[in-house]
Amino acid sequence: MTLGRRQFLKAGGTCVAGASALALGFAPPKAYAGDSRQYKLVRAKETRNNCTYCSVGCGILMYSLGDGAKNAKPSIFHIEGDPDHPVSRGSLCPKGAGLVDFIHSAGRLHYPEYRAPGAKEWKRISWEEATDRIARLLKDDRDKNFIERNEKGELVNRWLSSGMLASSAASNETGVLDFKFARALGMLGLDCQARLCHAPTVAALAPSFGRGAMTNNWVDIKNANVVLIMGGNPAEAHPVGFKWVMEAKIRNGAKVLVVDPRFNRSAAVADFYTPIRAGADAAFMLGVVNYLLTHDKIQHDYVKAYTNAALIVREDYTFDEGLFSGYNAEKRTYDKSSWTYERDEKGFALQDPTFQNPRCVINLLRKHVERYTPDMVTQMCGTPVKDFLYVCETLASTSVPDLTSTFLFALGWTHHTSGSQVIRSAAMVQLLLGNIGMAGGGMNALRGHSNIQGYTDLGLLSLRLPGYLNLPSDKQQDVATYLKETTPAADLPGQVNYYHNTPKFFVSMMKTLWGEHATSDNNWGFNWLPKWDRSYDMLAYFDMMYQGKVNGYIAQGFNPLAAMPDKNKTIAALSKLKFLVSIDPLSTETASFWQNEGQFNDVKTEDIQTEVFRLPASCFAEENGSIVNSGRWLQWHFAGAAPPGEAWQDSRVIGTIFTKIRDLYKKEGGVCPEPVLNMQWNYKDAEDPTPEEVARECNGYALADITDDQGKVVVPKGHLLPDFSVMKDDGTTSSFCWVFAGSWTEAGNQMARRDNTDTGLGSTPGWAWAWPANRRILYNRASMDPDGRPWDPKRQILEWDGKRWGGSDVPDYPPTSPPGSGVSPFIMLPEGLGRLFACGGMSDGPFPEQYEPTETPLASNPLHPKVTYNPTARVLKDDRARMGEQKDFPYVATTYSITELFRHWTKHSRLNAIAQPEQFVEIGEKLAGRLNIAAGDKVKVSSKRGYIEAKAVVTKRLRTLNVMGHDLDQIGIPCHWGFEGATRKGFLANTLSPAVGDANTQTPEFKAFLVNVEKA
Ligand code: SF4
Repeated sequence: MTLGRRQFLKAGGTCVAGASALALGFAPPKAYAGDSRQYKLVRAKETRNNCTYCSVGCGILMYSLGDGAKNAKPSIFHIEGDPDHPVSRGSLCPKGAGLVDFIHSAGRLHYPEYRAPGAKEWKRISWEEATDRIARLLKDDRDKNFIERNEKGELVNRWLSSGMLASSAASNETGVLDFKFARALGMLGLDCQARLCHAPTVAALAPSFGRGAMTNNWVDIKNANVVLIMGGNPAEAHPVGFKWVMEAKIRNGAKVLVVDPRFNRSAAVADFYTPIRAGADAAFMLGVVNYLLTHDKIQHDYVKAYTNAALIVREDYTFDEGLFSGYNAEKRTYDKSSWTYERDEKGFALQDPTFQNPRCVINLLRKHVERYTPDMVTQMCGTPVKDFLYVCETLASTSVPDLTSTFLFALGWTHHTSGSQVIRSAAMVQLLLGNIGMAGGGMNALRGHSNIQGYTDLGLLSLRLPGYLNLPSDKQQDVATYLKETTPAADLPGQVNYYHNTPKFFVSMMKTLWGEHATSDNNWGFNWLPKWDRSYDMLAYFDMMYQGKVNGYIAQGFNPLAAMPDKNKTIAALSKLKFLVSIDPLSTETASFWQNEGQFNDVKTEDIQTEVFRLPASCFAEENGSIVNSGRWLQWHFAGAAPPGEAWQDSRVIGTIFTKIRDLYKKEGGVCPEPVLNMQWNYKDAEDPTPEEVARECNGYALADITDDQGKVVVPKGHLLPDFSVMKDDGTTSSFCWVFAGSWTEAGNQMARRDNTDTGLGSTPGWAWAWPANRRILYNRASMDPDGRPWDPKRQILEWDGKRWGGSDVPDYPPTSPPGSGVSPFIMLPEGLGRLFACGGMSDGPFPEQYEPTETPLASNPLHPKVTYNPTARVLKDDRARMGEQKDFPYVATTYSITELFRHWTKHSRLNAIAQPEQFVEIGEKLAGRLNIAAGDKVKVSSKRGYIEAKAVVTKRLRTLNVMGHDLDQIGIPCHWGFEGATRKGFLANTLSPAVGDANTQTPEFKAFLVNVEKA
């Protein structure tokens, strides 16, 4: 039976009426025992898992029937929230509530299928046929196109003509296998969803604080006094996490501020809302920095002790007319050598604690932001001046030591050509206010997909290695050069500078990759890692595909046709592939890109010569493994049922294809077989590795007795590593991802722990396991002054017992460095200090700057008319011609998600499809009036790249703004529909957005581009 939304609500109404009839006494006079239904969970088996959608990582209990008999297959029939879970406490949002429908969706794939070149339909094939053929195609392409040496004759061992996209909801254990598979083959075109979402967060927070992750966690939001929601909409995108905002409001009297182009559902329950032009966020935040400095609303003691405000910047660093020193206009890059400190003869940074020196960071910052006056901010952002000042004053109120504000943000800040700089500017505000390391403070990047934090940690990005290490480049031809260039020297004496341990992390990783083949004699297998010459991020790689330079592609748990910008370009690119392999639980638009779906996908099927394999994978409910929520918690989950039909777990798909490729190399030889054959793949069943053995491998082992300075054995040979502090660079330890060391120890699987005891301020260190070292609030030593007194005694996290630091959280600090030791709390940075000046950590400047989106409604940047756009943003040649101008496309469009749907997955789930069955766009009342568009009319929204048609929702939620003296209208475009799934067919919203990315990470600019709107 198919129910429309109206029928569903009608049916629901009937139920309510029925219940009311009973209540009013119209019930049958007698109850018949035979008619009563047994409680539905009696005889059901309960299995713990986590929601597969967003990174709140809500706990779920899955109930299945199947009595364990050989022929009785368990089937999950009910899912509810896990009441013990410290974050979700039994709640699920509309997406989580529809999880059963996802598992049993009609869109689930049951057996492998094949689409021949030019064919119009799928043909069922066996796993054997599929994996044999895929292994053959991959090997042949690798042998033909593998590059052993570059044009300079340097050894590079890379393979560029086939690539892979890794999932964002599969387990970490699958991610480890993905990495080993892709890198063994030499692939550089490896990427994951992080590229399309939070990469700018990592790029901004790592140079600011030392790590790129959410600093605090979901529950800790309740400790805040002010919550700024900007560049995100957690009430809608992270609904259960948002309950901690409400907790802060109700129990803590917190003020909740929302700054967003749309009056969204977070705004609906906030204390204050003000609009902003999409793409102007950096101007707003730099205006806040200017306000704090000019009104002297900074936490002086914190800024002095824990930031680099006092450090002196080199004389030759400059900023002029939108450009920092060192710009090369031809290459569109910076020589960053001037973006650093003046140094003494030992190489340590000079500083002036009195802030008198005009070259102190704080003084250069004052100068840099003085242009961002309230008037300029208002002009550029369209935010009324009194609203802007209200936000400034409210944030400034937390510059005292005993009040905090927390910032919640997501893709609204990342999806810009200057996304990293928006986040940098917010990080600076939080440092000036003394809010980093504090309970109720922090820069809380709300990750999107359920395991995209994990896939980022595992380094599934074109130029990365696990644990935030970098893949070597062409120029790093030997391990000594690589380690020298990637291991930072301390900027100040006596600081931790924890990345000085990089050689230990790297060698331990290499011992995991190559096992016994990695020896000091062969530099731990350094030559087998592919070396890069440039980025092969998704935008660059799809551009190569568009140019016909890519032959094969694997999309594992990824739907790039729906997720990448400029859908029509993606179609053209995929059409040039020789073969595409889709590994997914669901039918995706990517796998079916060759199907003509009328105006939704108007392709010439017979002309598309790509052969396509559609391989059915398990979903979250059908596998064991761990996923990492936004707060860095690794949570272990369990399978409640087997995958449907002939579907396999992803680990088996990857394991089988890889084993077959290895067998081919063993049998027939080929080009550069060493990395393929030497990759450690010593699982009990090579074709089907278990998550448990991979998780232990990821944690790491002692390969010899590990001794302390006195020669005492601290970890016997063969034992799992207790943490990363025992790692060695001599080949006696292995660990795939150093930040995960400690997740599975001799004491067992730490990720599966379920002690939800609150040790104070909502911290639950006995629940699951958080990286690094189970710390729940990063930089928590910064919550106390240098002498160890908490800035706010009410939110004391750590205490010193005379010998060690302890408290409600694990110290993010050397546990025996006493108060007054002078060791600063930002232990991952070479100066130990939070950075207001990011030195060379960013590609587009040590201070943030407002640059306009690539498609801007402004004639030029009012701050520096000659440098309107981010001067280092990469616009590929083919994309330049696909950019539109304001005269043809007068409105600013911004894309977003809605509560009932998650990206393009939930449209397969019946409950969610009923709740939001049809595509719509939001148009402000004023603009709709001008264009004669009424609510429910069909409208055509077009950009230079294509068009979509959708129903118009005419709303007060989008106001006409006054920007630089002109009216400006913005269009809201939810991005959830497509031509696969249970909803009505719709257009892929990314048809409209441009293929240009953030200057630091190439994350696409989905949040601000130009469109036209007309009645269809
Ligand atoms: S989508 Fe997010 S908030 Fe909703 S139930 Fe799933 S994890 Fe929780």
